[in-house]
Amino acid sequence: MDEPKRFRAARDNFRWDGVAELAYKQDGSAPFKDISRQVLFDEPSLGCQLRYFEMKPAGYSTLERHEHVHAVMILRGHGACLVGDEVRRVKPHDLVTIPPMTWHQFRADPGEAMGFLCMVNQARDKPQLPSAGDLDALRKNPRIAAFLDDAHHD
Ligand code: MN
Repeated sequence: MDEPKRFRAARDNFRWDGVAELAYKQDGSAPFKDISRQVLFDEPSLGCQLRYFEMKPAGYSTLERHEHVHAVMILRGHGACLVGDEVRRVKPHDLVTIPPMTWHQFRADPGEAMGFLCMVNQARDKPQLPSAGDLDALRKNPRIAAFLDDAHHD
């Protein structure tokens, strides 16, 4: 097995030497729009991965929840994120913690790509998608309803 490279240079436009740009969800089973994934670190001794996700303007991640936690730093662009019952504007270098079993979604503003670093356990449970009942419950909060509606118009 190859040892990980000790130094990998940044390229233009949020790419890195030796890091492939991957499809966001391998199985294509969940709703999302215009988002790519790069695995920057995948270290068994740390037990975690550090990924870089990037959404094109108006792109969004899957609305989901799971037992594993995310530690996120916004790296470029502006947008909004839903964490549980809160919707917040986010900007570069803001930090976001996604606790266990908490609904979450990231959405880029229309004019601008948004990218973020996301640390996650290597061994982790599969994300759950909201049922119709879960979505109804989320939409009872007008701020969340507005966030979800924004996330789905092109
Ligand atoms: Mn997630």
